[in-house]
Amino acid sequence: MQLPVIIIGAGPIGLAAAANAAERDMDFIVVEAGGDAGAAVGEWGHVRLFSSWLELIDPAARRLLEATGTWTAPDDSDYPTGSEWREAYLQPLANLLNSSTNGSVHYNTQVTGVSRAGRDLLVDSGRENDPFAVHVHGPEGHQRLLGSAVVDASGTWTSPNPLGADGYPARGEREHADRISYGIPDFTDTAVAARYAGKHVAVAGKGASAQGVLIGLAQLAEQDPATRVSWLLRRPSVGDAFGGGDNDQLEQRGKLGQDAKAAASSGLVTNVTQFRTESVNLQDDGRLALGSTDGQQVSDVDEIIVVTGFRPDFSFLSEVRLDLDPALGSARFLAELVHPDHHSCGDVPGHGYQELAQPEPGFYVVGMKSYGRAPSFLAMTGFEQIRSVIAALAGDLEAAGRMELVLPDTGVCNGAGAFDAPDAVASTGGCCGAPASEPELISLGRPGQ
Ligand SMILES: Cc1cc2nc3c(=O)[nH]c(=O)nc-3n(C[C@H](O)[C@H](O)[C@H](O)COP(=O)(O)OP(=O)(O)OC[C@H]3O[C@@H](n4cnc5c(N)ncnc54)[C@H](O)[C@@H]3O)c2cc1C
Repeated sequence: MQLPVIIIGAGPIGLAAAANAAERDMDFIVVEAGGDAGAAVGEWGHVRLFSSWLELIDPAARRLLEATGTWTAPDDSDYPTGSEWREAYLQPLANLLNSSTNGSVHYNTQVTGVSRAGRDLLVDSGRENDPFAVHVHGPEGHQRLLGSAVVDASGTWTSPNPLGADGYPARGEREHADRISYGIPDFTDTAVAARYAGKHVAVAGKGASAQGVLIGLAQLAEQDPATRVSWLLRRPSVGDAFGGGDNDQLEQRGKLGQDAKAAASSGLVTNVTQFRTESVNLQDDGRLALGSTDGQQVSDVDEIIVVTGFRPDFSFLSEVRLDLDPALGSARFLAELVHPDHHSCGDVPGHGYQELAQPEPGFYVVGMKSYGRAPSFLAMTGFEQIRSVIAALAGDLEAAGRMELVLPDTGVCNGAGAFDAPDAVASTGGCCGAPASEPELISLGRPGQ
């Protein structure tokens, strides 16, 4: 009997994997730690994506959904929020997949370990012929699932980088966790707004999320002028902080960069450069003081927002053989393609099963997690990854080796850029791309082919 492919995570890429498997009549099981499909996306549901619907629906999933005759495809040219991505696409897709004869989607089920059945990391003999054993904790307790292959699409959302500059939580970071949040708060929520309005907020990080936070806090400051922000940057100057990898384009055209720049220069924000956080200390008056590794201090802080990126969680992969880039934690081959020093989100070439292959045959890390700590992952790149991986697992190496990704030649980050700003769907560039006046599709060749 052929065992199912076990897919970790019911996010956009895990569900795309299941859709590809369903199309090929392969058995699959999706295990998702959250309570429903797109659980991680739901946590940033208030953020408006910089990609349009055209770039956010996996082709195989679209075919399956359209075949039902009951699903209405969103308008290709609209830019959804995370919540809209879930509600209009991910959840209907998960429901459909869960009712398919080939597979099922299990919620509230956390993968805690992956190995070869009966063989830990050390054992060589016969390894590649044994099924995978996937340990999960779910509503029925600890279970062990057997699979012919494992596709890890668990993303990185659950492992935000800490405030501490050493890569570990700063001294006091855990103790004062109730005053620290990670990611972009939903400032339109009244409870969240009340938490930050009129406060001194320290914001750590310089990427697109940090810029979104600055914009949100600037909007709060319009209602409560006592709001102030200390923007903590590791770099010596704000410099290219308004560039999502392509500073010039963003600074000139990106709505997010422009709005964040306006917020940063509004008098609300104090830039604190070369600040590498070492400690979070309680002052006598109950407020917090942040200390840096070189002795700088930022005092009288009420709240801290950490937007310093995410990292992959390999804790449940200790018994499978991995070959990862030592700095990024991405598949080793991918590191040169996705390294943030060389690439912005629009120019990572398509890639598939060969580039994602691990020393453990039949095991693949895909989606956001496949990029490790690199922030430039795009869903449409993930859809191509998974099309190729599932084709390879089905033994269709011709399809697996083909390149089907088509990217707009004007770049792929042309959208709103700013979160939760319905009027932000402008023709100006988003995180890193030039304006998409007339999107023209081109095919990109796979490296080495
Ligand atoms: C704020 C923000 C905006 C973005 N905007 C865009 C955009 O405009 N365009 C674009 O193309 N990309 C965008 N991205 C990047 C990327 O496309 C998304 O992050 C996307 O959600 C990644 O999909 P994924 O399936 O790889 O991971 P995720 O969406 O993170 O899904 C992983 C799933 O795995 C589950 N999981 C985690 N660990 C386990 C475990 N041990 N066991 C079981 N389940 C587990 C999680 O609960 C989650 O549901 C954005 C990302 C962020 C954070």
